[in-house]
Amino acid sequence: MTVSNFSIEFYPPHTAAGEARLDAVHAELSQLDPDFFSVTYGAGGSTRHGTRQLVMKYQAQGSEIAPHLSFSGLNEDGVLELLHSYLNAGISRLVALRGDIPSGSGTSVHSRYASELVEFIRHKTGDAFHIEVACYPEIHPEARSYAADVNYFKDKVEAGANSAITQYFYNADAYFHFRDYCAKQGIGIPIVPGIMPITNYQNLARFSIKCGAEIPQWLGRKLETFGEDTAGLRTYGLEVVSELCERLLVGGAPGLHFYSMNLAGCVKALWDNLSLSDR
Ligand code: FAD
Repeated sequence: MTVSNFSIEFYPPHTAAGEARLDAVHAELSQLDPDFFSVTYGAGGSTRHGTRQLVMKYQAQGSEIAPHLSFSGLNEDGVLELLHSYLNAGISRLVALRGDIPSGSGTSVHSRYASELVEFIRHKTGDAFHIEVACYPEIHPEARSYAADVNYFKDKVEAGANSAITQYFYNADAYFHFRDYCAKQGIGIPIVPGIMPITNYQNLARFSIKCGAEIPQWLGRKLETFGEDTAGLRTYGLEVVSELCERLLVGGAPGLHFYSMNLAGCVKALWDNLSLSDR
């Protein structure tokens, strides 16, 4: 079992200026020496070229990097072609997902479950990749029930996933309860908490509704009070998220995965507050 697993997530920028900014962020965060960076795969496969290009660039610069991947927008040949290009570049870690369904596409879009993708990758490439999957301590918004969602998570593990990264949450007990419940269901892979720094309350509130992450009352009401005071909100957010991370690590979390939103400052501050370079 991996005992320490600290990673940082980027998304592919839409513009050349955004990419230049991300290059600087990547260079700055590389100094923290995370176990790996990951790069998301846009809903519906919208960033598959951007994801691959970014992954190849940072891999060539010496970073351990994990592309996110889904069947979204690709048939099996397309996925296979991507897998081979990653293998040829020396990439050995993936984050395998069903992917978000693109907004406006309706419910008729057929999206293959992540367990099918994990199975496909194992079938085609054996043990060449360490496969990460997603899981949801506060339950995936489309799930029928808590038990059903954990059962489907177990399908991904049985298909060959090596470790999991959670959706973000601000309630440490949700994570501990989920981890312990998964263990009782026979899920033995490391479950790494996904950590979302707090930088903008409106965006966070909107996104949390969409992805089913709860902002606890005590936190939401406090964040509302900052209004336009972005610096105050970030300072308070850093305090809250640092405490959350500390509690998770003390409680046995096997690492942390930071959703950087392509910003260096918050991740770096959290990393320093938690002395992660010394853990
Ligand atoms: P799945 O595990 O396939 O589950 C999806 C839903 O279907 C769940 O409700 C589950 O309970 C249910 N389900 C699973 N199997 C079955 C079955 N056999 N029968 C019936 N129901 C089933 N999105 C992106 O578009 N790009 C990214 O790069 C990206 N990165 C992410 C990284 C992390 C760490 C996390 C936590 C999420 C990420 N997402 C990303 C969001 C993710 O794609 C969405 O949450 C998506 O809706 C579900 O993906 P999944 O891989 O968890 O799906």
